[in-house]
Amino acid sequence: MVSIEDKLREESKKIISTSDLKYIIGYEKGSDSLRVTPSFAKSLEDIDKFIFSPFCSNNLTVYLTKPLTERFIVGKEEKRKIGIVVKGCDSRALVQLIQENIIARDSLVIIGIVCEGIVDIRKLAVKLKELKIHENAKFSSAELVEDKFIFEIDGKKINIPKQEIVFDKCNSCKYPTPLIYDVLIGEPKKVESVEEPYEDIKKLESLSLEERWNYWKQQFSKCIRCYACKNICPLCYCKECIAEKTTPVWIRASPNLQENLQFHLMRALHLAGRCIGCEECERACPMNIPVRALTKKLEKEVLEMFNYEAGIDPKAKPLLASFDPKDPAEFIM
Ligand code: SF4
Ligand code: SF4
Ligand code: SF4
Repeated sequence: MVSIEDKLREESKKIISTSDLKYIIGYEKGSDSLRVTPSFAKSLEDIDKFIFSPFCSNNLTVYLTKPLTERFIVGKEEKRKIGIVVKGCDSRALVQLIQENIIARDSLVIIGIVCEGIVDIRKLAVKLKELKIHENAKFSSAELVEDKFIFEIDGKKINIPKQEIVFDKCNSCKYPTPLIYDVLIGEPKKVESVEEPYEDIKKLESLSLEERWNYWKQQFSKCIRCYACKNICPLCYCKECIAEKTTPVWIRASPNLQENLQFHLMRALHLAGRCIGCEECERACPMNIPVRALTKKLEKEVLEMFNYEAGIDPKAKPLLASFDPKDPAEFIM
């Protein structure tokens, strides 16, 4: 049977040989056996480095909106297309960026991969500790068989239930099959329903106002304002973020609770109806702050009030650019 990785290389080579591409953004091996790093392939030889494994966590669509590729955005001059590898959740960022007229659909060649779930290496580290496996152990293979990962670690096979080590988003994934693609790798999978996707948010909602305030105060006092959560987000694409403006200064650079809160509330509101739930912001945070909870709460509100999910239909209007007379309007004076 042809592996996903072989198919990915085969399709990428076909694309790069037949289209005028600037590059294809995919994944290659990282600094150790658990790490994967983004890869920009310009030639057939570069494509030989492409991999796809349960450790391919990065949402590569962020490279379409950050300075590296900014010549490429709608209205700019770059004529060549960009190829990009996306999982289901990543593809929602592309849909959202197309809806917002930031990226033109015909400027992309999208290689979609049907995804089985991605390992959260922080959860894996905890599990390895429980199993008394050294954190620098060498992983030589990772395979998903039904609901278990079989890893070959330092020459031994170890089974770990998938649910225990994948990202939280993967345990309630509704879109394992990319929603937009030119080439699809893997058999499309339809998910009819997922178990309680907002359990974590409901838990927070059940706390009293004071308990919630104390919880967030404690979380955001840890924030060092490195802005990794903002920089990794494919939908945080303002050229100059209000948090970094120096004339005038809205939020000072040094971290402190009040301005940390100001930054996070501002960022969450800017993502209302737009966040596509890739959870990259949380993965990037060096302080383990559950930043995604804020945008997930807004996602839940938007779903309940407007029956709207971001990043689903490239032809639909973004939530904040559309109006339906039946929209709830109690908040309008
Ligand atoms: S949320 Fe779905 S598509 Fe995204 S990494 Fe997890 S399983 Fe894959
Ligand atoms: S990544 Fe974490 S520490 Fe850095 S600004 Fe965001 S919340 Fe704060
Ligand atoms: S706010 Fe977080 S979860 Fe939402 S799109 Fe940005 S990085 Fe992804």
